Amino acid sequence: MRKLQMVDLKSQYEPLKAQIQASLDDVFESAAFINGPEVQHFQKELEAYLGVKHVIPCANGTDALQIAMMGLDLKEGDEVITADFTFAATVEVIALLKFTPVLVDVDPDTFNISIEAIKKAITPKTRAIVPVHLFGQCAQMDAIMEIAKAHDLYVIEDNAQAIGANYTSANGSKQKAGTIGHVGATSFFPSKNLGCYGDGGAIFTNDDKLAHILRGIVNHGMYERYHHDVVGVNSRLDSIQAAILRAKLPHLDTYNRARQKAAAAYNRAFAACKDLVTPVTVSESCDKSNGLCQNCDCHVFHQYTLRVQNNRRDDLAKHLQERGIPFGIYYPIPLHVQKAYADARYNDADFPVTNLLSKEVISLPMHSELDSEQIDYITQTILDFLQ
Ligand SMILES: *Cc1c(COP(=O)(O)O)cnc(C)c1O
Repeated sequence: MRKLQMVDLKSQYEPLKAQIQASLDDVFESAAFINGPEVQHFQKELEAYLGVKHVIPCANGTDALQIAMMGLDLKEGDEVITADFTFAATVEVIALLKFTPVLVDVDPDTFNISIEAIKKAITPKTRAIVPVHLFGQCAQMDAIMEIAKAHDLYVIEDNAQAIGANYTSANGSKQKAGTIGHVGATSFFPSKNLGCYGDGGAIFTNDDKLAHILRGIVNHGMYERYHHDVVGVNSRLDSIQAAILRAKLPHLDTYNRARQKAAAAYNRAFAACKDLVTPVTVSESCDKSNGLCQNCDCHVFHQYTLRVQNNRRDDLAKHLQERGIPFGIYYPIPLHVQKAYADARYNDADFPVTNLLSKEVISLPMHSELDSEQIDYITQTILDFLQ
């Protein structure tokens, strides 16, 4: 059996090796390391793939979120609502920009931000919502966009975990995750669904004016050389990372299908296990004939995350560790109790789902190269323990 890993970047690299090596040689020969043609080409190719007017490449996903927020006319003290159950980067940039983060609870089935909780959290100071498409499935964007419209709020999508996912609206229209709100942000961290071989990120928007503003912010607030109109940052995707992303982008849908296939196999194996809650796809248009999304891309399984009930999660984790099966606990501590983000405004009783999930979740190996032998070994080991 091939070595079990949470992500297997080496196996994914093998078939692309010759192509990537050749593109890297071109970058080295051209010596256009910053803003070279590879970056421009990747930007255009990603715009076409996503069906979005503007992609603004940048240095990483956290920068992408920060720059997206810097481009909107938000000011100190404005309230920005986001999920309690996400990676810290989402709330970190809100706090860093001196906006007021408003953490809210999530939905127990999808782990995504709760619509009811958003509605309850809105005050006259609310200016934006940051839905996170956690683990590869879109938050309920129809409802979020409706709330945003009614209250005149910006929607900034944290799409670090769902690149390539589709969201189908109630009216049947299909859009790529990250292109639905006013602005979207993604990460090309190596383990993401579209990962480079270092750090990288991008911002998406269909708004021409906002795109222009963002292109200046990523480049020291310059719109004309050496004229600094706003306070910006230095955040660039380099040509080497762009060359790698160009080689991988044409395979993204295939990678995501392989993840869906692995997720469906996991789901089938765990179907009768009473201690486990397996992931669900909630899109009404999703063809779940094989048990779980396998072709509409409503879920691209950045993570395959189980809920282990009856207080058995930590014992299961120990069991897996002893048998050399890697796993992740995303996320073990709710953000509203993290030292950096705890606040007297929060009442622990308002976060029943996040509090529960942090004790129940476990993520299994998930990547585009998982084979059935590996999946059988993982599922059998888990079932042996739980039965
Ligand atoms: C990975 C991730 C980020 C940050 O991306 P980096 O490229 O590591 O800065 C932000 N939000 C979420 C939900 C993520 O998973």
